[in-house]
Amino acid sequence: MDSLASTPGRPNLILQAPLSGVCVDLSDVPDPVFAQRMVGDGIAIDPTEPLLRAPCAGRITQLHRAHHALTLTHAEGVEVLMHIGLDTVALGGEGFEPLVDEGDEVAVGDPLLRFEPGLLARRARSLICLIVLPQGQSIAAPRAGRVRGGEALCEVRPARPPTRPAEEGGIIWSGIVRVPNPMGLHARPAAALAQQAKALGGGARLRRGRTEVSAESIVGVMSLDVRCGDSVEIGGEDASMVMALAEAIASGLGELEAGGEDVMESLTAEPSLMRRVQSLSGALPGVVASPGLAVGPAYRFKPQRFDIADQGQGVEWELDKLHRALARSRKSLRALIDKLKAGGSQTRAEILIAHETLLEDTALSAEAERQIHQGRSAAAAWHESTTQQAESLARSDNLLLAARAADLRDVRDRVLRRMFGRRAPIKAIPPGSILIAEDIAPSILSALRPGQILGLATTQGGATSHAAIIARGLGLPALCGLPEALLAVHDGETLILDAQRGVVTISPDEATLEALNTRQEAQQCARVAAFNAREGAAITLDGARIWVEANIGAVEEAEEAVRQGAEGVGLMRSEFLYLNQTHAPSEAEQTAQYRAVAQALGATRPLTVRTLDVGGDKPLPYLPLPHEENPALGLRGIRVGLTRPALLRQQVRAILQGVGAGARLMFPMIARVEELRAARALVEEEAASLGVEGVEIGVMIEIPSAAINAAKLARYADFFSIGTNDLSQYTLAIDRGHPQLAAWADGLDPAVLRLIEMTLEGARQRDRRVGVCGGLASDLEAVPLLIGLGVDHLSASLAAVAEIKALVRSLSRARCRALAARALQAESAEDVRALIRAEPSEVSP
Ligand code: PEP
Ligand code: MG
Repeated sequence: MDSLASTPGRPNLILQAPLSGVCVDLSDVPDPVFAQRMVGDGIAIDPTEPLLRAPCAGRITQLHRAHHALTLTHAEGVEVLMHIGLDTVALGGEGFEPLVDEGDEVAVGDPLLRFEPGLLARRARSLICLIVLPQGQSIAAPRAGRVRGGEALCEVRPARPPTRPAEEGGIIWSGIVRVPNPMGLHARPAAALAQQAKALGGGARLRRGRTEVSAESIVGVMSLDVRCGDSVEIGGEDASMVMALAEAIASGLGELEAGGEDVMESLTAEPSLMRRVQSLSGALPGVVASPGLAVGPAYRFKPQRFDIADQGQGVEWELDKLHRALARSRKSLRALIDKLKAGGSQTRAEILIAHETLLEDTALSAEAERQIHQGRSAAAAWHESTTQQAESLARSDNLLLAARAADLRDVRDRVLRRMFGRRAPIKAIPPGSILIAEDIAPSILSALRPGQILGLATTQGGATSHAAIIARGLGLPALCGLPEALLAVHDGETLILDAQRGVVTISPDEATLEALNTRQEAQQCARVAAFNAREGAAITLDGARIWVEANIGAVEEAEEAVRQGAEGVGLMRSEFLYLNQTHAPSEAEQTAQYRAVAQALGATRPLTVRTLDVGGDKPLPYLPLPHEENPALGLRGIRVGLTRPALLRQQVRAILQGVGAGARLMFPMIARVEELRAARALVEEEAASLGVEGVEIGVMIEIPSAAINAAKLARYADFFSIGTNDLSQYTLAIDRGHPQLAAWADGLDPAVLRLIEMTLEGARQRDRRVGVCGGLASDLEAVPLLIGLGVDHLSASLAAVAEIKALVRSLSRARCRALAARALQAESAEDVRALIRAEPSEVSP
């Protein structure tokens, strides 16, 4: 029976044990914040079961976004904070399954939260469950030793009345303070702030945006969901108290190591040396999202700001406002989709169809409706629910999911524009400019007229974002992951956006501009001449025959490969056929697709199909793979096929039947000889059972171990195809999609070149052919080196095929060999590129 002793004569509220386990005195908890009762008095349980239940009846008033903590408020106002484990906030929700939502009423003993003890034991500092009273009450008659869930745990003694009543009006605000705590204001710093605020006794307030709470309430502070780097303000009637608390927040509330802030500041003030190495030339390095070259005036694109009132004007009115804005947004989006489809812009239309689905997502609107019912305005509720969702997507380890955060923000702003009667910000973009931004919404890019902007440069985003895909579709040069310095550029300042070399030059001098003009004109002429000569063979000046093939990812691209003069397909990324599919394709469906590609290529152009390369940054919606700490080093590529042989077998059968005799299959991410032997045996079995002859089996060389063991792999492989994208990633230990680091994962790094040389040496021992299908094969600067190293098959992106053929015809292999020998001795990719650029024209592009 629950009851509360705040009224004389009433018995104390009894808390039941929310789970079974061993009771621990709070002073013995290995965390000073809890042990010193900064959060409040309470008791801890070392749990022996993974289910947390309500210790008393009440309402769930706070569920932490990381789901490791929640607050239950008893009908008479006692707050009970339950916090599972120590440092579990860092798990970001992993290992926790909330069974209730904020606002739910629960009876004593109702299940609240389930957790995975195994995962917590491995990843958190402790599993201990803390039951704390943050409002100043204390516990009495605490249980000791073993306790079973549902048994009496302790009594709650009322708090002393607050020392000072809160006062209205006359509040002094501190101005913006940035929160430096890596995990934001979670339980520990929130407790420290609340404790200091109480000690100073001035009724301090804390606000983030328009939401304001008492700084003396740990639950209130936690409910603001303040993250690292967020701006907050502290307020109160006493200026010295405001200053003291503002300083405490700015210095990390004791969470950063002693003197941490100063030390960190002095340690982080100096600009990154990695950046500096790249910036010696005065250019900013970025990741190529869409290749090309552009020169023009900068235009800083700023996200739209909306002045959102938090308080609603009545539930019915606000609900109606939300629903009308959603309906009108859907209508305008549909009109835009139809227009794009009619104009043949299928990819852009599909991206907006994904936005349409987000708009129809009832989870988003239901959350907004819930907040409206709590008194918030439609705009505030919609903004909050979509922003929270976008932030949790952005934190995802999965790059593809993280990239969807921009889509969600985009949808959010579309609806807000409807509510505020605003026009799309695109109208303000001066034609002919290079757009610079932190990030750019896919719908903004989709709505641009062809040629409206010359290029795009962003500090965020990755090469896999929808914005990058749209930019590539528009043929718009784009770089992402550029340094923050980009945002200091003024509107109208001239930029060179070099999305071939991956750099932006700000305010170039006349000589640079002139050289660039010449380069652009020469490139344009060369492109036209190359396209006209696309059908001829690619033979070097000294008679070496180089086969130039294409990389494709869709059936329709096979026809384009033929149109571009490709001599076959050196890499069909088969997973691209299924990345957006929610059901597994049948063997017959797959067979039909491979047959269509083979037929489009005709009898004389070979087709090389790579078996599914999923996992890592390429999730397959119909094939759920477990979450991994290190996806790039986990279940990816052939490892998925070998752990799910039925999946690989089905695909192999489809390829063999679709392509027929002479089919070429290759396996991604082979790291060990055993993997190749197992995969090869599977193909041989299926080829024998289907009676398909002349099948060739290849290995993608994209992991250093494969290059080092090339001679051994060559026993079981008919050919090698070097995936320089992954080979660079794994050799240099740089995530190829990393916004800050990817620019350094350059395949021309001498270490990568050395592995390519080793692959060729290994292949030569068994006379196996070696091709390159990674990004280097489409890189005009890299091709002379690859040929010099001995590569004679290049599989390039569709747009590069004709130019690569033309380039080969201008090269002398003997000179390329000499260049390769020098490149192998160079110290860096930059030096290698400098060597190439210094070559006379028959070697240098
Ligand atoms: C590579 O890694 O170079 C490659 C061609 O494969 P993907 O880019 O598809 O991983
Ligand atoms: Mg690869």
